Amino acid sequence: MGDDNSIADAARVSYGKGTRSASDNRNLIRYLVRHKHTSPLEMVEVKFHLKLPIFVMRQLVRHRTASLNEYSGRYSIMSDDFYEPSEEYIQPQSKFNNQGRGGEMPDTWKEKYAQTINEITYKCQVAYKNLIGYGSVSHGGLARELARIVLPVSNYTECYWKMDLHNFFHFCQLRMDDHAQQEIQDYAKVMYEMVKPEVPIASEAFEDYSLNSISLSRMEANVLQYVFNTFPEKQHASGFVQSITSYLKKVQKAEDVTFDMSKREWKELEEKLK
Ligand SMILES: Cc1cc2nc3c(=O)[nH]c(=O)nc-3n(C[C@H](O)[C@H](O)[C@H](O)COP(=O)(O)OP(=O)(O)OC[C@H]3O[C@@H](n4cnc5c(N)ncnc54)[C@H](O)[C@@H]3O)c2cc1C
Repeated sequence: MGDDNSIADAARVSYGKGTRSASDNRNLIRYLVRHKHTSPLEMVEVKFHLKLPIFVMRQLVRHRTASLNEYSGRYSIMSDDFYEPSEEYIQPQSKFNNQGRGGEMPDTWKEKYAQTINEITYKCQVAYKNLIGYGSVSHGGLARELARIVLPVSNYTECYWKMDLHNFFHFCQLRMDDHAQQEIQDYAKVMYEMVKPEVPIASEAFEDYSLNSISLSRMEANVLQYVFNTFPEKQHASGFVQSITSYLKKVQKAEDVTFDMSKREWKELEEKLK
C-alpha cells in the first residue's frame, strides 16, 4: 500500500502539498533516506503471503515491527512440504564463521547428507501422520497440537506478514546480507525485488545510502585520516607504489601510533574498504 508519492506527500504535510515534479520527489526522498528522516517511509506498507520452512519463519519473527498471522498446527494438519537443500547449498560448517557454512565437500558426501536428510524427513512425516490417525477410520488419533512435535523445522508453514517500508528496508539490510543464513537471504532478496518496482525512488535511495554504503566508527575514521595524511609521504619515501591496503596493514602493526582497535575491527575495516 502506498508508493513514492505517499512518502513525499507525508514529508511535505508540514508546509502544504502544492504541485511537485517527479525530480522534486526524488530529491526529497533521497534527502529523507540520507538523513534518516524515516517516518515518511512508514506511510508505505508491504504485505506478503509467505510459505516458508519453520526454521526460516523463526528468523522472520525476530523482526518485531511486522504484523503477522501464521498457519495453525493446532487447528490444521501440517503441510506435506519439507525443505531439502539443493546440492550447492550442502556445505560444511564454515571454518571462519561459527554462524554459517562455507567451503566445499566431496560430491559423495553431499549425496550422503542429502539422503540422510531425506530419509529422516520422510520418517518424521510418516510418524506425524500415524499419530494424527491420518486416513484411519478406527480412531481420531492424537491431538494435532501434540502430534506436530515430531515434525522437523524444515516443514513448511504459511503466514501473512505486513510491515512498513522503513522497517522493511531494515529487514532487507539485515537479511539480504552475506552474514544472514542463505535460506532467509533468498526470501529477503525475492521480497525486496517484488517491492522495488512499487517504490523505485525510495529503493534507489535505500541502496545508495544504506544497503551499499559503509559506516565508520570514530577509530576507523581516525585510521583513514591518518592513512590519507601519511600515505603519499610514505609512498614517496619508500620509492615504490604500494597499495592503500598493504599500507593499512603496516599502520596496524606500527608501534609509534595506536588506534585502540581489536584485530577483528581491523579486519572489518579492511572488509569495508574492499
Ligand atoms: C546475521 C544475523 C544473526 C543473528 N543471530 C542471532 C542469534 O544468534 N541469536 C538471536 O537471538 N538473534 C539473532 N539474530 C536476530 C537479531 O538479534 C535481531 O533480533 C533481528 O535481526 C531483528 O532485528 P531488529 O531488532 O533490529 O528488528 P525489528 O525487531 O524489526 O526492530 C526494528 C527496529 O525497531 C526497534 N525496536 C523494535 N523493538 C524494540 C524494542 N523492544 N526496544 C527498542 N527498540 C526496538 C529497534 O530500533 C530495531 O532495530 C540475528 C540476526 C542476524 C541478521
